[in-house]
Amino acid sequence: MIAPRALQVYASLMSTQNPDMRIGAVIVAAGRGTRAGGDLPKQWQVIAGARVAAWTCARFTARSDIAEVILVVHPDDQAFAQEIAGVRIVHGGASRDSSVRLGLKALGNDLTHVLIHDVARCTVPTQVIDDVIAALNRSDAAAPALAVTDALWIAKDGSVSGTQDRTGLYRAQTPQGFALPAILNAHTKHTGGAADDVEVARAARLDVVITGGDEANLKITTPVDFARAQTLLEQSMDIRLGNGFDVHAFEDGDHVILCGVHVPHDKALKGHSDADVGMHAVTDAIYGALADGDIGQHFPPSDPQWKGAASEIFLKHAVALAQSRGFTISNIDCTLICEHPKIGPHAGTMKATMAELMGLDADRVSVKATTSERLGFTGREEGIAALATATLVKL
Ligand code: MG
Repeated sequence: MIAPRALQVYASLMSTQNPDMRIGAVIVAAGRGTRAGGDLPKQWQVIAGARVAAWTCARFTARSDIAEVILVVHPDDQAFAQEIAGVRIVHGGASRDSSVRLGLKALGNDLTHVLIHDVARCTVPTQVIDDVIAALNRSDAAAPALAVTDALWIAKDGSVSGTQDRTGLYRAQTPQGFALPAILNAHTKHTGGAADDVEVARAARLDVVITGGDEANLKITTPVDFARAQTLLEQSMDIRLGNGFDVHAFEDGDHVILCGVHVPHDKALKGHSDADVGMHAVTDAIYGALADGDIGQHFPPSDPQWKGAASEIFLKHAVALAQSRGFTISNIDCTLICEHPKIGPHAGTMKATMAELMGLDADRVSVKATTSERLGFTGREEGIAALATATLVKL
C-alpha cells in the first residue's frame, strides 16, 4: 500500500508539466543561408510535401502544453511564413541573438517559460521536447544534448596535429528551455553574439540542466541532410484509414441524391435525411479513420432537426472534426452499388461536388459504381448500397 503523500510525490515526478507553467515557443527562422543547397534558404525548401519551417512549427503548435508559438523570420520571407498555421510571425534582426531577443519580447506576458528552437531541426522527437519541459520544473534552464562518442582530433593543413579528450563533451541541440524572465534578462544584458541561447544563459550565470538529445533531432545543414530528414518525417507521419458502408431502400419518387448530385430516377431513396447513401458512406469513412463513431452517433435519427437534412451537414462536420484534430484528408474513394440509375454519366459531377464540399483537389476524390450482377437486394433494385474509404494524414 502506497501512502497518499508518496503517491502525490510520484504523480508530481511523472507529470511533465507544473500546472502553473505557461509555455511559449520561439522558432528562429530568420537566417538567409543557402549552405544546404537550393535557391531558397533551407527553412523554406519543401521536403515530404511541406516546407521545413512548417514541419518544425507543427512539432510545437500540435502540443496542448505550448500556449503560443512565435516564428521569427526575415521580412523578405513574410509570404512563406504566412502559409504556416498556428504561429505568430515576428521579423528578426541582423544576427541570431537579436532575432531571439525580438521573439522573446513578442511573447505574451502571461507566459512563464519559453522553448527556443532552431527552425532547421524539423524532426525533433516529442520525447526531446517532453524532457526539456520536465526539467524546467526543477531548473530555470534546460537543453538537450548528446555525449560525444567519436574520437576527436585537432587538424592542421589537412593532417592530424593532435587529439582532444572527449570526456565531458556534448553536442548541443534545441529546443533550449528557460524561465522566461531569466532568459529575457540574460538576452537584454548579452551583446556581441552567441552560438546558442545556452551560451547567453551561462553568461548570466544560469545553471543549465542537460536533458536527453536524440540522433533523430537532426539539424539540416548540408544537402544530404534533406534526404535524412525526409525519411525521418515520413516515418513519423500519422496515417489513418477508415471505411464506411451504407444502404438506403427505394420508395416512390422521381429522383435520388447521390454524392450531392440530383439524379432523375423512377424511384427515390428512403431515409431520415436526404438519404444520400454515397455521402453517408464517405462521412462514416472519415469518422472511422478518426475512431469517432458514425453519423448516427453525431446526428441521432431520433432527433427531428435532421429530418430531410442535406447530408452535406454531416460531411462538413466530419471534415471539420478531422481538421480540428490536425488531420488532412489525403484521399477519398467511394463505390456506389446499384443496377439503376446509371452512375457513369454523373460520376464526374459527383466527384467535383464531393471535392468542393470537402475542400479537396478533385484528383483526391474518386466516385465510381458497380452493379451486383443482379444478385441480392441491389440486384433486385430494392435499394442502393455504397462503400467508401478515407485516408487521413497528420504531419
Ligand atoms: Mg445513411
